[in-house]
Amino acid sequence: MTQNVVVIGAGHAGAHAAVSLRDLGFEGAITLVSDEAQLPYQRPPLSKSYLLGKQDGDALLLKSPEVYAEQRIKYLSGNRAVAIDRSGRVVVLADGQKLPYDKVILATGGRRAVLSAPGAELDGVVGLRTFSDAADIKARLGAVRNVVVIGGGFIGLEFACVARSLDVNVCLVELAGRLLGRSVSEITARHVEDVHRANGVSLCFGEKVVALHGEGRLQSLELSSGKTLPAELALVGVGMTPNVDLAAAAGLDVLDGVLVDTFLRTSDPDVLAIGDCARFPANDAMMRVESVQNATDQARHAAHTITGHLAPYSALPWFWSDQGGMKLQMAGLAQTADRFVVRGSPASGSFSVFCFCGDRLVAVESVNRGADHVMGRRLIAANAALTEQQASDESFPLKNAISPNRGAPAGEGMTRTASNVRSLDERMK
Ligand SMILES: Cc1cc2nc3c(=O)[nH]c(=O)nc-3n(C[C@H](O)[C@H](O)[C@H](O)COP(=O)(O)OP(=O)(O)OC[C@H]3O[C@@H](n4cnc5c(N)ncnc54)[C@H](O)[C@@H]3O)c2cc1C
Repeated sequence: MTQNVVVIGAGHAGAHAAVSLRDLGFEGAITLVSDEAQLPYQRPPLSKSYLLGKQDGDALLLKSPEVYAEQRIKYLSGNRAVAIDRSGRVVVLADGQKLPYDKVILATGGRRAVLSAPGAELDGVVGLRTFSDAADIKARLGAVRNVVVIGGGFIGLEFACVARSLDVNVCLVELAGRLLGRSVSEITARHVEDVHRANGVSLCFGEKVVALHGEGRLQSLELSSGKTLPAELALVGVGMTPNVDLAAAAGLDVLDGVLVDTFLRTSDPDVLAIGDCARFPANDAMMRVESVQNATDQARHAAHTITGHLAPYSALPWFWSDQGGMKLQMAGLAQTADRFVVRGSPASGSFSVFCFCGDRLVAVESVNRGADHVMGRRLIAANAALTEQQASDESFPLKNAISPNRGAPAGEGMTRTASNVRSLDERMK
């Protein structure tokens, strides 16, 4: 019988897992271990409202401080789990404490991927993953004139918007020939590109940062074409690396993520893994997803597994990004799609791209069209018989495509087409 659960990592996944266990009536001891100093907080605002000064530290908290006491969750902050002793069934912390466990939930997330180029260690070369990263960037932003963003992923683009709103010159360098190469369709990516250009961001595609120069502090970046960009601040947005070291040292199976089964159990059934650090099965593929939806859905799912409610994990992935006045929302996996249909008009700044694989709707990308996003999630989850013609016809009510007889469990639409899907690891690059 499970008496002691130790949750390692207190981000979206870990904090939700602890609370979900109580929601499901778990009465044993729950210890939530975090190597960060703060109470568990939301990461998405770090590249948006927090940097803009619209939300302060307290507003970022995932739960109020009282919740942990009320829910009898022992929260150990500023303390790193350094080993899982599976034979002794204890989690060892950096300060020497040994926490006995019946079940461990690994929710260790990831860390910023580093830029490998000479000069990457210069003062002024920053990344954005944690609250302290964001606080550092916020303090620097007021004193810079020229910023370079390295990587055309979501975090880099959100940061570019913030910097432009402060009237800072922004140049974004991207190795590929387009933005968001591994996360959205070409149609959506080109629209995002247009919006950023119109906002004054200069875009350098097909370029690599080969060196960063300065005397202690960053002054310029050198690109593969030989071009030099002046900058006092460079944001490295080249993705993240999942934190798997603890799992690997404990002898668990890892492969760019902690490998789990459909119940989110690792190769040791008493250790589960969830959120950004976990690679989970979706039919014949394994995938790792970096999103709040994935972290919180898997947290609930792990709590179900621990409390004996075993069911395969099959939630539909969805994601959002706020870039100035543009709200992007994505449901499903566009990477599997081979045909794309636009509903609405990109020129008006409000449209959706319906992404089909064969005759099957697999993803919907919406720009300033929240209703389409909500409906898209329902359509994909219900395996709806939506045709391309209906998708593009604004006079056709999307809800009419949902037939009560064609329903499939939420997420099945995602997993059935996943054989060739690349993981979403690169989503935030
Ligand atoms: C700037 C930014 C903006 C984002 N915007 C969006 C968005 O708009 N929409 C969206 O859906 N997603 C967004 N994301 C992604 C989303 O925040 C992540 O997918 C989510 O936070 C993952 O949660 P997690 O709990 O799995 O991992 P994390 O949030 O990374 O939490 C893991 C925690 O575990 C700790 N930890 C690691 N190892 C140990 C150890 N050995 N001992 C103790 N503690 C440990 C880490 O320090 C960390 O606190 C954004 C991410 C960032 C960084």
